Amino acid sequence: MTLPETPGPSPDETLATAAAAGIHALAVPTPFAVGRVNCYLIEDEPLTLIDTGPNSGKSLDELERALATHERTIEELELIVLTHQHMDHLGLLEILARRSGAEVAALAILAPYLAEFRENVIADDDYAQAIMRRHGIPADLTTVLGAVGVAFRAFGSRGDVTRPLRDGDGLTLRDRTLRVLHRPGHSPSDTIFWDDRRRILIAGDHLLAHISSNPLISRPLDGDQRAPRPHALITYIDSMLATRELPAELVLTGHGDPITDHVALIDERLRLHRRRAQKILRMLDGGPLTAYEIALRMWGNVAVTQAYLTLSEVLGHLDLLARAGLVRVFEVDDVVHFEATPLAPAQG
Ligand SMILES: [Zn+2]
Repeated sequence: MTLPETPGPSPDETLATAAAAGIHALAVPTPFAVGRVNCYLIEDEPLTLIDTGPNSGKSLDELERALATHERTIEELELIVLTHQHMDHLGLLEILARRSGAEVAALAILAPYLAEFRENVIADDDYAQAIMRRHGIPADLTTVLGAVGVAFRAFGSRGDVTRPLRDGDGLTLRDRTLRVLHRPGHSPSDTIFWDDRRRILIAGDHLLAHISSNPLISRPLDGDQRAPRPHALITYIDSMLATRELPAELVLTGHGDPITDHVALIDERLRLHRRRAQKILRMLDGGPLTAYEIALRMWGNVAVTQAYLTLSEVLGHLDLLARAGLVRVFEVDDVVHFEATPLAPAQG
């Protein structure tokens, strides 16, 4: 006999819990496939906004209207806090900071990136192009994807960080202290904000309820081009294991509904990554493959339309397998191929 699952609190109930703590979710539209981004207004001193939404008139309008439902205006904001470097989270930064005069808090390593945002996004796109070519994505496809990247750049924004944050810092407001925790993986600058007293975690895209947060391979923030390719999934798994230890009762995320059982969610994500790694290892039974060939077998046309995302995912799993000694790499004409090692168990 199976017992019916005890229903957890509904998203409305969890958002009511957050509102009681003075934290209001403001869902702002984005032009990206992920849909709306959640910004959070914290009624405290200073009056705080976590993330801004992308740089578009529509997002600005909706953000203003959402603030108005809490009888607030952009001009009243006193502190803007960023969870990470992606455009859907910071595109309105320059406009909001100018109109409000708010301080801007973000991870210190993000400050130079934001100061020259456009140049850095261009360098990120070039870096992604090189990774794609190196892993077997045809040149005509990388060219198309590059053009899409250029079209999206306008949704970002530069900005000046006036309160640089470091891992472990306390961001103290009148009614609460938010512990600043660096949790790279989805991006190099992922930062989460932990209210130990209320057991509320503001997590940006570090954890999302409805989709597995993508460990995108990103250019290192220190810009060292000679550094080896980042192992984003390995980094991300380490970050998730650290977050798993927090006794959070409510996790407020950058997209979609809040999370009330982050331990179960993280365990599910870890299982998913193990399964995918095993599936990729089985594919290599038939002989060496490039990461792009693996992505095509895993996801078909999605590996074309979402080439960088799926490539990042596959490379992450290959990194896990390589660390376990189960795959190794070799190059043919500057394109990386992966093959199973004799250590890999023969798959039936
Ligand atoms: Zn996002």
